[in-house]
Amino acid sequence: MSEITTRDTVILGSGCSGLTAAIYAARSNLKPLVIEGHEPGGQLSITTLVENFPGWPEGIQGPDLIENMKKQAVRFGAELCMGHLTSIDLTQRPFALNLGKETIHTRTLIIASGASARWLNLPSEQALIGHGVTSCATCDGFFARGKEIAVIGGGDSAMEEALFLTRFATKVTVINRSEKFRASPIMLERAMAHPNIKFVCNTTVEEVLGVEEKDVKGLRLRNRVSGDEYILPVSFMFLAIGHIPNAHAFKGMLDLDEDGYILTQNNVFPTLNGQPLPGVFACGDIQDRRYRQAITAAGSGCMAALEVEKYLEEHGR
Ligand code: NAP
Repeated sequence: MSEITTRDTVILGSGCSGLTAAIYAARSNLKPLVIEGHEPGGQLSITTLVENFPGWPEGIQGPDLIENMKKQAVRFGAELCMGHLTSIDLTQRPFALNLGKETIHTRTLIIASGASARWLNLPSEQALIGHGVTSCATCDGFFARGKEIAVIGGGDSAMEEALFLTRFATKVTVINRSEKFRASPIMLERAMAHPNIKFVCNTTVEEVLGVEEKDVKGLRLRNRVSGDEYILPVSFMFLAIGHIPNAHAFKGMLDLDEDGYILTQNNVFPTLNGQPLPGVFACGDIQDRRYRQAITAAGSGCMAALEVEKYLEEHGR
């Protein structure tokens, strides 16, 4: 990392929003530092084909899209480093970011740390993570070759994962806790049309079987309408039940909503007690629970970088 004592801007997170902010900030000659965090590349790096990002008529693999963005940011002078935010002080200027081994000072901060996969939080599920329980179809789909598996969730992620997993698994059962699906009609229709995907609604997972064997043997399911419980024999459980925003470090320092997402005004201005906090900006999934698309994350990343530029022009570098 270069020896800049106080940075113009630091970007927390290297997903679609953080890297777009980095491209814009770098092209404004702000030499942004991007701290990659515990999930480098964000959610795009663990997805498969992205078909709705404008400019890619045949689609592009999520990891390739992220890699392209990284190269683009670095080409214009962005620096990337691995690191985990241990604590931060937003009351002092410049802001001090404690990364454990070192403290980085910056005049402005762009929070783009996204959201992480949600778990059911059953003891049996937690015990079997990495032994048949996973939240990453892209990473673990290959291991499901020739097996019967379950996907938990009823949103676009669940449909996308179920479809992807049919490349490997012989049968995919999608388990949705309610009657209604959150997935978009086109994704739902595609999944429903697939002969190897079956759907179970109004059903919750009560237990993942196989803790003693350290290998998933099945799921104990409960029908929420009848109350009946039964065993579904599967070798894998793929979670696709949404995400939790990575904003814990900002609790008490910024206004968060009831689920922990950063509340913003005009998309990218976080607040404290309802008042914008000068020099701090947020973009991407950490502040967007409504759209959560790669393109909207990129859009807000662009906005955050433009606001940084404007702020530094007004307040000096
Ligand atoms: P989501 O739309 O929030 O859906 C989450 C699903 O998980 C819902 O069916 C929800 O059920 C279920 N769920 C949540 N907590 C649960 C729990 N504790 N136990 C059981 N089920 C639980 O999340 P997502 O599918 O990850 O999608 C997020 C966003 O990314 C969406 O905007 C989506 O359109 C987008 N996305 C787009 C694509 C694409 O276009 N290719 C692919 C993936 C994602 P309830 O409905 O009962 O709450």
